[in-house]
Amino acid sequence: MPHPTSLRPASTVVAAGRPPRGPGAGVVVPPHFTSTYEVGAPVVYARQGNPTWTAFEEIIGELEGGRALAFASGMAAADAVLSLVPHGAVVVAASGVYNGVDAVLREGEASGRWSVRWADITDPDAVGFAVDGADLLWLESPTNPLLDVADLGAACAAARAAGAVSVVDNTFATPLLQQPLSLGADIVMHSATKYLSGHSDLLMGVLVVGAADEDRYAALHRRRTLGGGIPGPMEVFLATRGIRTLAVRFERACATAGELVARLRADARVEKVRYPGFGAMVSIEIRGGAAAADAVCRAAHLISHSTSLGGVESQWERRRAIPLEPATTPDNLVRLSVGIEDVEDLWADIDQALAAAGV
Ligand SMILES: *Cc1c(COP(=O)(O)O)cnc(C)c1O
Repeated sequence: MPHPTSLRPASTVVAAGRPPRGPGAGVVVPPHFTSTYEVGAPVVYARQGNPTWTAFEEIIGELEGGRALAFASGMAAADAVLSLVPHGAVVVAASGVYNGVDAVLREGEASGRWSVRWADITDPDAVGFAVDGADLLWLESPTNPLLDVADLGAACAAARAAGAVSVVDNTFATPLLQQPLSLGADIVMHSATKYLSGHSDLLMGVLVVGAADEDRYAALHRRRTLGGGIPGPMEVFLATRGIRTLAVRFERACATAGELVARLRADARVEKVRYPGFGAMVSIEIRGGAAAADAVCRAAHLISHSTSLGGVESQWERRRAIPLEPATTPDNLVRLSVGIEDVEDLWADIDQALAAAGV
C-alpha cells in the first residue's frame, strides 16, 4: 500500500486498507458483491477471497504486526484454529475463557476429540506446568468476564518451549493496548464483533499469524475456504468503516472506564469492582446477590441491558443470566462495557439504577 508502514496505530486505523492512490481513484474500498470471478487470477470463487476482506485484513494485519484472515464471527475464527488441532491432542486453556470457547472445548473433550487442562492464567508457573506435553495453549487476557490478566510473554514462551501452539484471544485489549504476536504468540484471535467494528451492528471474527508464518497462514486460509465461515461483504465493509474510529472510540471509553471504576470503588453498594487497570470493560459485583444485580441491570435508562460489548453504546448484563456461563463467574457479577457517552450521564445512570433497585 502507498502509505508509510511506520505509522502509529491511531494513524494505521485510518490509513491502512485504502485503494491504490491515483487520479480519480476512490478513497474507500466498497463492498464487493460477487460470488465468483472471471477466470485467470488466483482467486476464482468468493469463498476463497474478496477485495473487501483484503482491505479489512490489511488494517488488522498492520495493527497486530502479522497477516490477518477475516471470518464470519469470533467463534468461526476460533473453530478454524481448533479444527487444526490433531485428534487426541492436549489443549491447555485459561480457566475463565469466553463461554463459547469454554463450551466448544468441553464438548470436544466429552466426544473424545481432545483433552483439556484448565490453568489459572494469572499464575505463570501453573501455565508453564500445564503446557508440558500439550499441543495447544488457548489464552485470553484479560478474560471475559473475570478480567484476569496473564503474563502473555511468559505463557507463550512456555508454550513454545513445550512445542505447543499458542493462541491469544485479544478481543478485550485490542491491538491498541496489546500485540500478542510481539509477545511470542503464534495466533491472535479477535471477535471483531466487539471493539474493532464497534457499533453493535454486525458479527465478525479475525485471526492473525506472523508475517513469515506461511504454513500456518495457508492452513487457516484453507480451513476458512473449506469450512465456509466467511463474512459477508457488507459486514466487512461496515467493520472497516468502524475500525477507522477505533483509536478515538477506545481512548474515550478507556478514560471513562477509569473514572467510573474510581467512583464505583468508593461506593458501598458495590461489593467488588474488577478492573485490570486498562481497557474499557468493568465487572461489578452488586451487594444483594443475583436478584439485586438483575434489578440494577433492568433499571438503567442510558446503559443498554444486553449481552455483547465493545460498541459505542454502554451495555451491561448479569453474566450468569446467560445459560452457557460457567459457575466460576459470581452470581451477582454485572459486566459493564463502557461506551463513549458522557461520563457524567453514565455515572448518573449507574447511580439511579443502584438506587432504583434498592441496593
Ligand atoms: C464475543 C467474544 C467471542 C466470540 O465472538 P463472536 O463474534 O460473538 O462469535 C470470543 N471471545 C471473546 C473474548 C468475546 O468477547
